[in-house]
Amino acid sequence: MADNPLLESDGLCTYYGTSQALFDVGIKVPSRGGVAILGRNGAGKTTLLKTLAGELAATRGRISFDGTDCTRAAVENRVRRGLGHVPQEHGIFAGMTVKENLLIGAMGNRTGREHIEEVITLFPRLGQRLPQKAGTLSGGERKMLAISRALLGRPHLLMLDEPTEGVWHGVIEEIAVRLEELSREMAVLIVEQHVKLALRVSQYCYVMDRGRIALEGPSDQIRDDPELTRLLAP
Ligand code: ATP
Repeated sequence: MADNPLLESDGLCTYYGTSQALFDVGIKVPSRGGVAILGRNGAGKTTLLKTLAGELAATRGRISFDGTDCTRAAVENRVRRGLGHVPQEHGIFAGMTVKENLLIGAMGNRTGREHIEEVITLFPRLGQRLPQKAGTLSGGERKMLAISRALLGRPHLLMLDEPTEGVWHGVIEEIAVRLEELSREMAVLIVEQHVKLALRVSQYCYVMDRGRIALEGPSDQIRDDPELTRLLAP
């Protein structure tokens, strides 16, 4: 793991009311490459991403991004600094067209409109559906739109919460290939139930259990670790 990570959390604790969901979570994400977060349902993966994105407040601990403390920074401030987040529920505007959704992603980015052309080349099927209402896209196309929209903010780190959830297996491969390509150029932090895919697009992996990091290591080693099977067993 890099000595100067782009994102680092240390001792992170998050609560929902009085119920603690994260316990002293420490992760590091280097400025390039993929990092995966795995864990059973309810292990705390989404809570971790939301805390890193600023949607949930950390009660204790510290988050630093690009060398600056951002533990208390607002969501918009983190986005401006380069922290992109594709939430599990993808947050696209169903009543707007694909193009309008992309334009929203490009807002605040001077070269955003030109960048749309570039982003569309990643997912050509989106380019063919620019006038279509986003609510009529397939599950996989919605995920592609959400990823593209986040990329238009020109993030340094792209955090993805289950990018292949509810996606037809033929499209999963397309998303996996794009994520592999992206992670060669930027930092990608991925939460995934699809363990094989997560380990394929990442070089380093954290496995969560009941709100804690229970196992971590290089993805090609974790893949064969019997502890991984135990931690992911229902
Ligand atoms: P999944 O893989 O099912 O999406 P996860 O690993 O992402 O699960 P989280 O959604 O982060 O897990 O949930 C962690 C814990 O926090 C769970 O016990 C969950 O019930 C609880 N939790 C999540 N959201 C809330 C909420 N809004 N209010 C109260 N508790 C919550």
